[in-house]
Amino acid sequence: MKIKDILDKRTPTLSFEVFPPKTEDKYESVMNAAMEIARLEPAFMSVTYGAGGGTSQYTADIAAALKDQAGVTPLAHLTCVSSTKEKVRQVLSQLKEKNIENVLALRGDIPEGGPVAKDFRYASELIDEIKKAGDFCIGAACYPEGHVESANKTIDIEYLKEKIDAGCDFVTTQMFFDNNILYNYLYRIRERGITVPVVAGIMPVTNIGQIKRICQMSGTALPVRFKALLDRFGDNPGAMKQAGIAYATEQIIDLIANGVNGIHVYSMNKPDIAGKIKENLSEIIN
Ligand code: FAD
Repeated sequence: MKIKDILDKRTPTLSFEVFPPKTEDKYESVMNAAMEIARLEPAFMSVTYGAGGGTSQYTADIAAALKDQAGVTPLAHLTCVSSTKEKVRQVLSQLKEKNIENVLALRGDIPEGGPVAKDFRYASELIDEIKKAGDFCIGAACYPEGHVESANKTIDIEYLKEKIDAGCDFVTTQMFFDNNILYNYLYRIRERGITVPVVAGIMPVTNIGQIKRICQMSGTALPVRFKALLDRFGDNPGAMKQAGIAYATEQIIDLIANGVNGIHVYSMNKPDIAGKIKENLSEIIN
């Protein structure tokens, strides 16, 4: 099923993300985690793409297993900045063969020392390529706080508009911890004429080291209320997990109450966290 058709129904949806292993010895445990999350019957599941594309086969295989063995609609991520056109075409034909209809088109982070291939500069160019390859439903990333490399949010929204005009059907946001940032962003992109569904990316923070690193890299702001949780519970893994899940749940309930229907949880291959969030929303998203 195409994700745009799922999102067009305008009812609250919950989806989860998994990431493929870096090495073969972890493949089985990642696949087991993905299948366990799939049993929660999410609206769809995304499978990320390893930087550089070295694990692209795992992304396609996990996405296909989610569809064929668990009956869950998969969204396969694809990055382009370190890829040649040939490699991108090869991945797309592999996805087509496996009947995977949804692709999240990304530039990817530029590796230290610059891109290793020069065929693609931006995700919008990848969207052009995907459009040529077949009838895919295409998603892209967006950044409520602006992408780290952008001079300002206005220019970032202009480049988002280029991705939409290239044929992107929906967008998923970078994680954020203050819903007001998303509401302000939605207002600004709608004003710019961007009308595609926006799926809110929510990260349940259960590990303080991980979040400090990610926020440094992505420029995501940590609200005072959220910092207090990290300060108070950061040294106690059990308490941090409980507090992180509660914070994410509260964020999601507020989003749905304010009309944001698409909720994507960065579940980080953790079925227990995905399960708790689902349980907390059992009467809100069903
Ligand atoms: P783009 O949309 O190409 O934008 C990159 C930068 O270039 C921005 O600053 C933008 O404003 C600017 N820009 C865009 N077009 C132009 C133009 N024409 N001229 C000048 N500047 C321009 N990474 C992975 O490696 N694998 C994944 O699976 C993955 N999944 C992700 C999922 C989501 C929902 C998100 C939010 C991010 C994900 N990432 C992933 C990280 C992503 O690859 C990085 O954030 C990357 O730095 C930007 O990718 P993009 O597709 O947003 O790039």
